[in-house]
Amino acid sequence: MKTHNLGYPRIGNKRQLKKACEKYWSGQASMEELLEVGREIRLFNWKLQQNIGIDLIPSNDFSFYDHALDMALTVGAIPKRFEKLIGKTELDLYFAMARGIQTNGLDIKAMEMTKWFDTNYHYIVPEFYKGQSFKYFSKKTIEEFKEAAQAGIGTKPVLIGPVSFLLLGKTKQEAFNPLDLLSALMPVYLELIGELIQLGAEWIQFDEPFLCMDLNAAKQDAFIDAYTEIKAAYPNLKALIATYFEGLRENARLALSLPVSALHLDLVRDPEQINQLLKQWPKHLSLSLGLVDGRNIWKTNLSAALSVVQSAQNHIPNEKLFLATSCSLLHAPCDLDLETNENVLPKDVKNWMAFAKQKLHELTALKETALNENMVANQLKLLKNQDAIDSRKYSKRIHDLKVKARIYAVDKEDFSRKSSFEERRKVQRKNLKLPLFPTTTIGSFPQTPELRATRAKFRKREISLEQYETEIENQIKQAIKLQEEIGLDILVHGEFERTDMVEYFGQQLNGFAFTQNGWVQSYGSRCVKPPIIYGDVARKQDMTVRWSAFAQKQTQHIMKGMLTGPVTILQWSFVRDDQPRKNTCMQIAFAIRDEALSLEKHGIKIIQIDEPALREGLPLRKVDWGDYLNWAVKAFKISASGVNDETQIHTHMCYSEFNDIIGSIAGLDADVITIETSRSEMELLDAFVHFKYPNEIGPGVYDIHSPRIPSVQEMEELLQKAMNVLPVENIWVNPDCGLKTRKWPETIEALKHLVEAAKQMRLNLVIAN
Ligand code: GLN
Ligand code: ZN
Repeated sequence: MKTHNLGYPRIGNKRQLKKACEKYWSGQASMEELLEVGREIRLFNWKLQQNIGIDLIPSNDFSFYDHALDMALTVGAIPKRFEKLIGKTELDLYFAMARGIQTNGLDIKAMEMTKWFDTNYHYIVPEFYKGQSFKYFSKKTIEEFKEAAQAGIGTKPVLIGPVSFLLLGKTKQEAFNPLDLLSALMPVYLELIGELIQLGAEWIQFDEPFLCMDLNAAKQDAFIDAYTEIKAAYPNLKALIATYFEGLRENARLALSLPVSALHLDLVRDPEQINQLLKQWPKHLSLSLGLVDGRNIWKTNLSAALSVVQSAQNHIPNEKLFLATSCSLLHAPCDLDLETNENVLPKDVKNWMAFAKQKLHELTALKETALNENMVANQLKLLKNQDAIDSRKYSKRIHDLKVKARIYAVDKEDFSRKSSFEERRKVQRKNLKLPLFPTTTIGSFPQTPELRATRAKFRKREISLEQYETEIENQIKQAIKLQEEIGLDILVHGEFERTDMVEYFGQQLNGFAFTQNGWVQSYGSRCVKPPIIYGDVARKQDMTVRWSAFAQKQTQHIMKGMLTGPVTILQWSFVRDDQPRKNTCMQIAFAIRDEALSLEKHGIKIIQIDEPALREGLPLRKVDWGDYLNWAVKAFKISASGVNDETQIHTHMCYSEFNDIIGSIAGLDADVITIETSRSEMELLDAFVHFKYPNEIGPGVYDIHSPRIPSVQEMEELLQKAMNVLPVENIWVNPDCGLKTRKWPETIEALKHLVEAAKQMRLNLVIAN
């Protein structure tokens, strides 16, 4: 029996990678310094896993930005617009593909980015062109394998499997089936695999999460073709296919028939699948049991997991059994031992949790127990584990009867506005007096190093609460002045008081806990520290009114209030697993509803309830969509429907494709939605050819994920595109998302362009009429 891990967090347990990348990008560190930080993190991770006793330690799970981009560069899938950069340093080409580049006369747009399945991790979307060729380009996989070998550690290289790699991508210029490229792609995979084998690789892990998704016949065939080809070329290779984020369901037969040595199952997402599969498990195939949750922070119930291992042992010999995390630990924070402050994370809550490192310990304990090794020590571990599981179940911290009662009593009135959109629109128009193409931003403004320093000082009690709040007020005043000067119609206060749009609310709600170092990668160098929802959620007092009301007092313009929606709070937290997610979501929805009402009472006329994560909560299998969308839309509407008709409710969505759920988005019945579109050249608008979106909408015209400043003309062109499919009186003008990660100079410049573009559009209308 072997333990293995599908991938370890690569940001470093103190976010070393984030800091090193950002220093390099801003010119404050050399490439050699950055490369050195990469080497340190890899070595640290490998050693740590070796010490814990993990049998198959992954390599190539490290990445300077994203593993899908690594794979694209490995197989030479480099879009033409970056060709000028080939021949320069590989890392600079790589970062240009990820972030775009606008220096020395170059102006190249970044590649698209989207959610990695239903996680909050974002990957860079490979671009595919009809008839394109591939070539073995980046040697990263090899270099990292050698590096580990030099440190005395034999590793299991991790690759995105060829089929999933193609399915993760997007075809450009003309539509075609990306799987048409499989035969061109395979030789590159074979070359890479050959080189790995030559260097001594025994196991290679191919991540094929698409084996858990809906597959048509062509996709099924692609799996057979790809793995048959690999088998034919390397009959002795031990290929492990990793599936995760769902069960295999009807793809089980296909998966079991692939000519590989091992198949990994996500038994956290779909624990039921094991019984059925064990009955038909082929003799030659090793089984990897994904029993330890790679995506959440709760301790594994070891005795429950052990009984799964034991039932597998009844069918499969030990030497063909692997114990593993359910998916890569990329989605889990590094090390619970770093959480030492009981004021941040209470001791009893901490005792219910396990981070990446602790999860690996769980794996070795499980293996040893299953093999009857170190029985005394392991019995003790199991007892302690049981104790923690029980103490969580019965803890008084978790249950709030008032909250539960409100959920049970929910009825229709709780989730519909008083009047229809058309009627609300009439009163809102009279009230708000907006021009055509109203301009606004999504909420946050750049969080400067000074602001972060002030926050740090406040945390260390070097400045008083009063001093801190005065500083926030100053920032708000400055942001308002700037917005007035730029000429935006609807202003925002800038969210300077928030480090994070979910954490900020969690900190003020019952049922949430936090960590000091529980970071996970979101995209590139961006990390998030998801709150932990462990108990029933309740609002204790006003959460945002102090800042929104202050901001409104500083200006004649309308100030938009800014809330995070219930689905997003749910999605971006580590959620309790002892009740259905939808129940937790409804609890949050009521807390946000109460806050919206309080904002309204304090004179805020427009309230934005952000739901950027609505799409990512979508189940991976289409059959499950309806149920999810039903409760997610309901939760949003609970949060948004308490207010009067006069109050304009905005929502905001980003990072994903929305075309396929546009009906549900309309079902939210927000008066206005601002939505990301600019990176995909307004692809979203295709949805509106057939679907008449009923309410007002601001398709983003400024890609805030890149430091690049779009020109007035570019934005006008995007708005023109929008005008082709949307009624002109419905169109808002705004960036794709919040501006928190940008710098002030580029923000100001881009927003000036944005206001100018709106003015031009209005002018064009006058001329046309
Ligand atoms: N209001 C948030 C902001 O502007 C929205 C962020 C998001 O959609 N991710 O930062
Ligand atoms: Zn956004």
